[in-house]
Amino acid sequence: TVGMVCVDQGAHMSAATSTSGLFMKRAGRVGDSPISGSGFYVDSEVGGASATGLGEDVMKGCVSYEIVRLMKEGKTPQEACDIAVTNFDKELKKRRGKAGDMSLIAMNNKGEWGVATNIQGFSFAVATEKEEPTVYLVQFD
Ligand code: ASP
Repeated sequence: TVGMVCVDQGAHMSAATSTSGLFMKRAGRVGDSPISGSGFYVDSEVGGASATGLGEDVMKGCVSYEIVRLMKEGKTPQEACDIAVTNFDKELKKRRGKAGDMSLIAMNNKGEWGVATNIQGFSFAVATEKEEPTVYLVQFD
C-alpha cells in the first residue's frame, strides 16, 4: 500500500491510499485502503492519516479516523500515531494473542507529521516546499 497525506499553503488537506491488497486474497475482498476512516481519513480543520497493514485489523479500529480524532483532541501527529498503534497492538493481543502488521502516517494542517509502525523496515518519505524529499527507514533494535 502507498498512502499519502498532503497539505497546501492554504492549509487545505488531502489523503489517499493505493494498494494491490493482500497476497493471495480472496476474489472480491475489499481491504481497508479504499474505505474512508480506515485506510485514510482527512479533515482540513485538523489533519489527515493513512494506514497500511492487515486491512481486516485496520478496519476494525477505524484507525485513520482514530488518529485524526486524537489530533483533534490536541495530540501531535506523532503522539496520535503512537497511541493508535500501541492501543491496537494491545487490543489484538488481548483478543487473539497476536497483533497484525500495521504502519501509520499522519500530518496536521500545520505540516507537522508523525509515523508509527509495528513492523521492521517500514519506510516513508517526507517532502516540503523548502526541503528535498527525504526517505526514512524504521529499524527496531
Ligand atoms: N492494507 C492493505 C489491505 O489489507 C494491504 C497493505 O497495506 O499492504 O488490503
